[in-house]
Formats: sequence, structure tokens, C-alpha cells
Amino acid sequence: MKKTPFVTKEKLEEIIRQYPTPFHLYDEKGIRENAARVKEAFSWNPGFIEYFAVKATPTPALIRILKEYGCGTDCSSMTELMLSEAMGFSGDKIMFSSNVTPAEEYVKANELGAVINLDDITHIDFLEETLGFIPKKISCRFNPGGMFQLSNGIMDNPGDAKYGMTEEQIFEAFRTLKAKGAEEFGIHAFLASNTVTNEYYPKLAGVLFELAVRLQKETGAHITFINLSGGVGIPYRPEQEGNDILAIGEGVRKVYEEILVPAGMGDVRLCTEMGRYMMGPYGCLVTTAMHEKHIYKEYIGVDACAANLMRPAMYGAYHHITVMGKENEPCDHMYDVTGSLCENNDKFAIDRMLPKIDKGDLLVIHDTGAHGFSMGYNYNGRLWSAEILLKEDGSFELIRRAETPKDYFATLDITPEYKKMFE
Ligand SMILES: *Cc1c(COP(=O)(O)O)cnc(C)c1O
Repeated sequence: MKKTPFVTKEKLEEIIRQYPTPFHLYDEKGIRENAARVKEAFSWNPGFIEYFAVKATPTPALIRILKEYGCGTDCSSMTELMLSEAMGFSGDKIMFSSNVTPAEEYVKANELGAVINLDDITHIDFLEETLGFIPKKISCRFNPGGMFQLSNGIMDNPGDAKYGMTEEQIFEAFRTLKAKGAEEFGIHAFLASNTVTNEYYPKLAGVLFELAVRLQKETGAHITFINLSGGVGIPYRPEQEGNDILAIGEGVRKVYEEILVPAGMGDVRLCTEMGRYMMGPYGCLVTTAMHEKHIYKEYIGVDACAANLMRPAMYGAYHHITVMGKENEPCDHMYDVTGSLCENNDKFAIDRMLPKIDKGDLLVIHDTGAHGFSMGYNYNGRLWSAEILLKEDGSFELIRRAETPKDYFATLDITPEYKKMFE
């Protein structure tokens, strides 16, 4: 499928008159339409909640849109819990799926009434020592080990992942938690990341539903919710076909009716913790071509860098690039599109065929709505960019201002005279 930006060149030029590049731009219309589809896909399951994975896009103006569609938040740190609190989430609208958890974060999660999802069996004692009791509602994260493989060749390696409990441990954990007073149980697993196939959730659901039936039967623990977590992917490449969330919801429903309903567990609530699928396609990084360099290869230097979008540098991830206004020109130039970091992996694209790029051209780097801005960092003293929301009516709004040198210096031990410079 041809990838086209959700914003026109004219609109971008209008935005840039007010806010200079680089910035991440988000598409309100796309976020809303997708959130409505997700809600519909699981509407057959009363009580279904999508807990948006805050780490993917920790931007209140965007998460508040999801809140209108009944979404909660999935957190794994103190500040993510605080962000959720600040946005008005509480109780079972917050899922705390953390690992290597500090005691004060369990305290905060409990204070907010969040559902606590234990990553390890040793956390039962740790939680009890921290809170003085075990919450009535509790969840455990499962790791089946081995390889997890789907029919289209997608695979991931749970056996090599730090998360969750073994099967033996989760049975023991349920018995222990029950003895300590827990009354409502949940299970959770995240077995493969960025799966671009409608098969992932149904297959994972099969694994978790079968486990749930055995757990309930053998431990007597009452399972009231099952959490399919994240991992539903998006088509970063133009040749990929995206997931169909309605087909995914229907696939999960079939497995639910095959496994849970006959076991008398037809009242189990499902939940998800999608991040990428909820936001990924509805954000882009907008950057300007600043320099062109010709040595052994052709380089285009842009005003964004890996500090604004780490995925290409970190995983070699593909992000499609559109040169605005040149959509119909032939892609007859091969470029490395690079940022300014003193790191040779600071490249948004390597050997990419693109139209001829001139200085001043606007580049849209696609699919940065999740795990984009949020993975930013300050290397080389580069500052965090702004985030802007393109609203349904075509207007735009700054939803996070760009970081300034004053922000950067705020945490430093430096001479008062120098700090005065920012006053
Ligand atoms: C990262 C993460 C998610 C979100 O994953 P996506 O791939 O963005 O859907 C959900 N749950 C947990 C526990 C995670 O660590």
C-alpha cells in the first residue's frame, strides 16, 4: 500500500510558521477512528478495557482522547502512575504491569487502586512486606518459555525474555496469593512484539485461556480477567498489510467460546495493553533537510536526530519517509538520511531510494506515534522536540513545548552566575 502522510504540505508550512522543525505531529482523526474500531472489535466482551501503554506515548493530550473511548492506562513506573493520576485515571482503569519494581511504586499503585500485575513469584512477599497485605484483586504475568511462532514466520523468544513466571511458578503463586487473601485473579502475557498478523492475539488468547482453565480448576482461584497485553503491530513498510482489529477481535471471540465458555468461565473480562497499535500510525516526525554531503555515499542531513526517534538507530527499524511536495517524482536518488549526533548509527534511512532532496525540503518520517518521542534522550546535548496535535477541524495545537537550554540546565550543579543567564 502506498504510504501517504496524514498532513498536507500546505498545512505543514502553516504549522512551521509558528513552530520550527523538528517536531512530532499527531492526527486526532486517525486516533479517534482507530480507538472506536478497537472498542467495537471487543464489544462482544462486557467489561473489556484497553489499557493504553503509557510508555509508548506519554502525552496527556493524546491519552485523554483515548479516555473518551473507555481506555485506561498501563503503567510500569512512578511517573507513569503519576501521569495517569494527573489525567484522572484511578482504580481498575490503571493496570500496573511493571518489572524490577521499587517498593514505593507498589505503594503508589495501591494508593491509586490500580490493578497490580506481578512479574515474579518473589514479588508476592515483597508486595506483602511493602503494603502489609495482599490486594484482593491481583494479576500474575506468565512466561511460557521456548519459542513463540506464528504461521507467517513471525517469531519471538519468550524463553530469552526477563519477564513473567514459569508455569510451575504461576500455579504456586496463585495458591500462595489465595492463601494470603486474594479473591479476584488475572493473568497476563506478552509473547511477541510488533506482530503484523491477525493471528497473534487469538493464538496468545488460546495459550492464556487454557492456562486459566487449569489454574482455576487446580488452585480454586477465581479468575475474573485475562490480559492480552501489547504486541499488536503496524505496517511500517509500504508493502506490508496492516492488521484488521475487527478480525482480531472476532478471532479472540472464537477461542473464548471454544475454551472459556465450556469451562464455565464465560464471565471473564478481557483486557489489552496496546501501545503501538493505538498511536503508532497517527504520529510522524517532521524535519527539514539542512545539508547535503557527497563523499563515498550521498548524505542528507536533517534537523532531527536519533534523540528524537531512536528506533532506526537502536533496532535498524524501517520508517517510511515522504519528501513533501515530491510525492509524484521518481525515487531515483539513493541517500542516507542522517541526524547530527556524533554516532554513526544516527541515520533515519540507509541506502533509501528517494526523490532528489534539496536543502529546505520538508521530510515526514512516518509512524512515530508510538515508541517515537517517548524513547528520546539528550545525547550530545540535543533537546526534546515539541509535540503538536493536528485536530479534526484542521487547526493545530502545541501539546508539549520543545525543551529549552534552561530545561537542560535545570538539574545541573553549575555556578549561580551561569544559571542567572536563563532568568
Ligand atoms: C511495551 C508494553 C506494552 C505495549 O506494547 P506495544 O507493542 O506498544 O503494543 C504493553 N504491556 C507491557 C507490559 C509492555 O511492556
